[in-house]
Amino acid sequence: MAVRKVHVKKGDTVRVIAGEDRGRTGKVLRVIPAKGRVIVEGINMVKKHQRATRQMEAGIVEQPAPIDSSNVMLICPSCNQAARVGVDRSGDGKAVRVCKRCGKPID
Ligand SMILES: [Zn+2]
Repeated sequence: MAVRKVHVKKGDTVRVIAGEDRGRTGKVLRVIPAKGRVIVEGINMVKKHQRATRQMEAGIVEQPAPIDSSNVMLICPSCNQAARVGVDRSGDGKAVRVCKRCGKPID
């Protein structure tokens, strides 16, 4: 499978726009570009049976499972709204993500 362009980065705050957690927001913990998926804090929590290790007892732990990156929208740090992301290559030619709502750079 081809690597898909993921519009969010680790540390971004995103809003979930589809699925069971629709409308909720969280911080991106991990991006998996090879699958076009992201792991978002507190979103898509699944119970996982944990085998006992030297550090931990056996039990059930809840952890966030990856969701498709197309199911999340970036929340712009400038206007604080879920926004589409554009890319601006003006300036020194480096790609900078910009909010399509307020036009401010995101990074
Ligand atoms: Zn904005």
